Amino acid sequence: MIVNSACLTGVRKITVRKRELLLSEDEVLVKTHAAGICGQDKNLYNGIIPPSGGLNTEMKSAFAYPYFYGHEAGGVVVEVGRNVRNYKPGDKVMAFAWVETYSDYFKAREEELEPVPEGLSMDLASLGEPIGCAVFSGLCSKIQLGDTVAVVGMGFAGQVFAQVAKKKGAHQVIGVDVVEGKLKLAASLGLDHGINSSETDPLAAILDLTNGQGADVVVEMAGTGEAVQLCNDAVKHNGVLVFYSWITQNINLNISRWHNNSLQVVNTGLVHHGTLQRHIWVPQALRPVLQNQINIEPLITHTYQLDEIDQAMETANSDPNAIKVLIRP
Ligand SMILES: [Zn+2]
Repeated sequence: MIVNSACLTGVRKITVRKRELLLSEDEVLVKTHAAGICGQDKNLYNGIIPPSGGLNTEMKSAFAYPYFYGHEAGGVVVEVGRNVRNYKPGDKVMAFAWVETYSDYFKAREEELEPVPEGLSMDLASLGEPIGCAVFSGLCSKIQLGDTVAVVGMGFAGQVFAQVAKKKGAHQVIGVDVVEGKLKLAASLGLDHGINSSETDPLAAILDLTNGQGADVVVEMAGTGEAVQLCNDAVKHNGVLVFYSWITQNINLNISRWHNNSLQVVNTGLVHHGTLQRHIWVPQALRPVLQNQINIEPLITHTYQLDEIDQAMETANSDPNAIKVLIRP
């Protein structure tokens, strides 16, 4: 069938093209409800291309323009190939892979999808991947009752993680970001202390709030080398350093403390945990959202139509207060 899909044609150049989508016997055709823009989509928009080949699991083939993309979306199954066993037309699904979701229809293999949990709205299901990933990180972060937790980077994932930390019984949750608006939004959702790292030395501020000890758990959600170093330096002796971002460029890091302070380093990547594990974890990770324990709606700051994809990408890229930008085909 002929579909409308957004594709990158160069650095910071994106447009919608008509193209033919042919369904193979192993694929599911999905009518897109909405699709989210994520940090990695912004990197690709800016020409920052992840490494491909070898054991890299996401970019299996070399990147080339025109590049159709998008990996966060929800929708309804309209057709299935004859080998598809677990989905049928009418089923509500969420994308959990790079299946080119900036499109009015997208296709995916069964293992690239998850069923939408009963009762979850399709807007939130369209963000099932980023919500699931961020909540999973919080669930696996080893946060204990009474802990001080520092979240470095208060974008979508940081906003979700901070709420999970509070609900898991953290005594105080500290958020670090360079954008005041993101800290204010997080405060309205329960963050205890916001540190604007463009004005205040964040390491000094975290030490100040923890009697010079550092935080029990620190999570890196900003996606820069500086942020990883800050997390490395701000976690207490024997504390937990939670790694979340997908950083695709080389970074410079002093990890002397991993040895000297016996840090626990935890890697929390839901999507790459393995498909079978993911099937088990996704319902667990979305459960607190369904139960209204985690508030997602205020994090959807902008919505655009598919034919406004250039404006949507520019907003996600340049508006400091954009948290999650949603595309509605
Ligand atoms: Zn994403």
